[in-house]
Amino acid sequence: MKNRFHTPTFMVNAALGGSLSILALGGIYFWLSSSTPIEEQVTNQSKAASVEMGKDGSIIANANTQEITVASPEVVATLKTDLLTSEYIAVGAVPTETAADILEPSDIEKMVTVSHGDTLMSLLVAAGATRSEAHGAITALTDVYSPRKIRPGLDIALTFAHPSDPTVKKPVVEEKERDVGPLRAMQFQPSVERIVKVSTTEGEDSTYIAEEIQRPLTMKMARSANEITSSLYLAATNVDVPNDIMIKMIRAYSFDVDFQREIQKGDSFEVVYEAYYDEDGNLARTGDMLYGKLNLSGDDLQLYRFTPSSGFTDYFNEKGQSAKKALMRTPVDGARLSSRFGKRKHPVLGYTKMHKGVDFAAPRGTPIYAAGDGVILRANRFSSFGNYVKIRHHSGYETAYAHMKGFAKGIRKSKRVRQGQVIGYVGTTGRSTGPHLHYEVLFNGRQVNPLGVKLPAGEKLKKADLKKFKGEKAKINKMIKDLKHPAAIAKLETN
Ligand SMILES: [Zn+2]
Repeated sequence: MKNRFHTPTFMVNAALGGSLSILALGGIYFWLSSSTPIEEQVTNQSKAASVEMGKDGSIIANANTQEITVASPEVVATLKTDLLTSEYIAVGAVPTETAADILEPSDIEKMVTVSHGDTLMSLLVAAGATRSEAHGAITALTDVYSPRKIRPGLDIALTFAHPSDPTVKKPVVEEKERDVGPLRAMQFQPSVERIVKVSTTEGEDSTYIAEEIQRPLTMKMARSANEITSSLYLAATNVDVPNDIMIKMIRAYSFDVDFQREIQKGDSFEVVYEAYYDEDGNLARTGDMLYGKLNLSGDDLQLYRFTPSSGFTDYFNEKGQSAKKALMRTPVDGARLSSRFGKRKHPVLGYTKMHKGVDFAAPRGTPIYAAGDGVILRANRFSSFGNYVKIRHHSGYETAYAHMKGFAKGIRKSKRVRQGQVIGYVGTTGRSTGPHLHYEVLFNGRQVNPLGVKLPAGEKLKKADLKKFKGEKAKINKMIKDLKHPAAIAKLETN
């Protein structure tokens, strides 16, 4: 379990003789003491923040600006992070003279991140909750969210009472020694549309209750286009194409285009995709890519998203030919070609030997995909190949994958797999110098160069599907036209 405090630590420069101390412990406590209004600058090394104080003593604070300016009479204010807006929100501002009397030890906030193998119970207990508190909070949570659905990477904000908080009723016998008081609240965001919160009720018989906050999102079509000067990645980043969309685009074109070699200066791209915005107009997430166009050395490669009667959504060119080939040339994402097909000096054995596949260097654990639909011929340890999978495809093709860290669930001999299905993970088992995938394509039982072989084509739409596709294509083309000339639409709407 990773355990980290969410609030950054601030560096404080006190000005004009005022003294300012800040304790950054989950919440921020601002303690300003001076007899005259003061102006303070707070700068923080890593993540900047700003604080504004209104005449009524209220405080508005925002993360991500360069400096904090505080101009105020003496106050004690508590600031908390709001998960919804990621802003610091002032939850109390009290003049110092009275604050000293009523100052209660404030809650302690912790942010924990779910790691592989964690259960919600183990996380809560490790963060300081007793087993009975954790059990109470998890039971309440079950009303709105199944605790079994938590996934590695999820951040969970926890609020504990301060151990010396006099208002908190303590059990007669403490279950465990800890540096926090009882668990008061738990909050996380399982998706951009949804926040889940468990908190304690007020009063004597305090129990945990759960609630769910929905954030409505609005979908709008977005279009981005740019000239490619060095790489598609840079060209797309420069016009703010979201990463997810870029990955979808690269995947859709990966059968046709070798992105490491074929992209040249002067080429261009265009992409149309679904973008979901929150109530503040910020992009919350992306949906599908509907259309892509690559102009490579003057040739347009267009792809339209379409679902034929088979039910398998795919990308098709303007003629209705699937972008997919029967086999993938690179059955792993984000890999770097580290060794080509052909004669080479063997990195482990030292003598020249025929390299009957291609090697893709990728981080350990990177998913490996079945290059095409087919049946698994073997999935086991195979001498110097380490963990090895071989798949038989149609038309006399086979593919093989070696040095895997392990196999994906359900991958074993005689099983059917679909193209793009995860079959295992990059590793370095067998005779290998580091994490990589050794990939072979065999045609009629002989290894061929996976990067050079002419691959059998994928599906071509026919009859009813083709007719439906043409209608869909026309709709998308019209939409692109409208997106290209938003001014014309605005004019129509105001008329
Ligand atoms: Zn190899």
